[in-house]
Amino acid sequence: MAITDPVLDHDVVVIGAGPVGLLLACLLAQEGVDTVVCERRDAVDPRSRAIGIHPPGLRELAEAGVGTAVRTEALTLSGGEVRSRGRVLAALAFPPERPVLVLPQQRTHALLLDRLAELSPTALHGGCTVRAVRDEGRFVRIRVDDGHRRRELTAAFAVVADGVRSGLRGELGLGWRRRAGRSGYAMADVPDPDPGSQAVLHCGPDGLVEVFPLPGGRRRWVLRRGRDAGAMPGDRFRAEIAARIGEDPPFGADVEPVSFVAAQHLAGAVVRGRVALLGDAAHEISPIGGQGMNLGWVDAGRLARALRAGLDRGDADLRDYARRTLRSARDAQRRSAFYMAMGAPADGIVLHGREALIRALGSDALRDWAAGLVTMRGV
Ligand SMILES: Cc1cc2nc3c(=O)[nH]c(=O)nc-3n(C[C@H](O)[C@H](O)[C@H](O)COP(=O)(O)OP(=O)(O)OC[C@H]3O[C@@H](n4cnc5c(N)ncnc54)[C@H](O)[C@@H]3O)c2cc1C
Repeated sequence: MAITDPVLDHDVVVIGAGPVGLLLACLLAQEGVDTVVCERRDAVDPRSRAIGIHPPGLRELAEAGVGTAVRTEALTLSGGEVRSRGRVLAALAFPPERPVLVLPQQRTHALLLDRLAELSPTALHGGCTVRAVRDEGRFVRIRVDDGHRRRELTAAFAVVADGVRSGLRGELGLGWRRRAGRSGYAMADVPDPDPGSQAVLHCGPDGLVEVFPLPGGRRRWVLRRGRDAGAMPGDRFRAEIAARIGEDPPFGADVEPVSFVAAQHLAGAVVRGRVALLGDAAHEISPIGGQGMNLGWVDAGRLARALRAGLDRGDADLRDYARRTLRSARDAQRRSAFYMAMGAPADGIVLHGREALIRALGSDALRDWAAGLVTMRGV
C-alpha cells in the first residue's frame, strides 16, 4: 500500500480500541495498510454492553476474518415475541439466512483483539492516551501520552473512535447534537439454565421489560425506568419486573442490576480533512434495538474502503464516508426512537393504538418487513 508521504510514521492511526476501532484496524491490517491503534486502557473494559449482532454487523466481522469464531461462540436468536397485558401481540422469526446472533461485547471484543494480534502483532498500543489530533493538510499529527512520556506520531489519516464521551470530537469542533429518544433503564445478566432462543419484549402499560437469551446459560433482563437513572436495588428490580410481566422472574432479590441512560446524539460532521470520527464517537444510538455497535462496524467497512482508496490515490476525499455515515445514523436513530416509544409507559387510547400497531406489524402482510426492520435490513 502506498504511503502518502514517506516521512510519516504510519498510514493510519486509530484512536480507541473499542469493538469499532478494532474492526477497522483488522480490515486495514489485512490489506497491508500500516495501522496502529492507540488505546488508553491497558486492561479489559469490565462493562456489560452490547449483545446483539445483526446481519450487517456479521457481514463486516466476516470480512475481517472473525465471522466463524463469532458464530461458533454466539447463540442464534430464532425470533422474538412482543407481549402486552398478558397477550402475545406479535411473533417474528429470523430466517437462517439473516441470523441475529447474541454474544456479549466482551467476547466479540476479545475475538477482535486476537485477530488484530494475528494480523499485526505490534499494532495495538495499550495504555496510550491521545491528547490531541491536528490535521496538517497533507498529513495528521497526533499527540500521545503513554504514561511515561509524551510524543508525536504522524500519519496519512487519523480515525477518532474514542467512544460516546469522545474528548477529541469536541476539540476538533465537530459538534454533538441531541436527537429524539431518552430514558433510564436497569439491566442484569443472570444465570438461567434454560434461556431458550427467543427474545421477549413486554410492552405493557407500565413500560418495557426485555428478556434476551445469552450463550452459556444466562439471560439479560432490561427494565425501562423513565427519568430515574440512579442505582436500583436488586429487590426493587425484581419486584418491578414481576409486577409488569405478571409473574416472578427466575432470579433472586440478590441480583445486581446496572443502570444506564439510553440517549441519542449525532456529530455535526464526521470528517475534518484527514481526520474521521467513527463508531460511538460519531453517533450515539440508543441501545434499545441493539444497533450502535453494528452500525459502527458498517461505518468501519465503508471507512476502510475510503482510506485505502485515499492512500492509493494520495488524496483525502472522505466525503462519501461522511455523507453515508450521517444518513445511516439518522435512520438508525429514528428506528431506535420508535422502539423506545413502543416501550414507554402508556394507557388509554395511546396504549390501545400502540397494541394495534404492534399487532399489525406482526400480521402476515407486514411480518417479514418488520423482521427486516429489526434485523437492520438495508444498512
Ligand atoms: C447497555 C448497552 C447495551 C448495548 N447493546 C448493544 C447491542 O446489543 N448491539 C449493538 O450494536 N450495540 C449495543 N450497544 C452499543 C455498543 O456498546 C456501542 O455502540 C459500542 O461499544 C461502540 O464501540 P466503539 O468502539 O465506537 O466505542 P467504545 O466501545 O466506547 O470504545 C472506545 C475506546 O476508546 C478508548 N479511548 C477513549 N478516549 C481515548 C483517548 N483519548 N486515547 C486513547 N483511547 C481512548 C476507550 O478506552 C475505549 O476503549 C449497547 C450499549 C449499552 C450501553
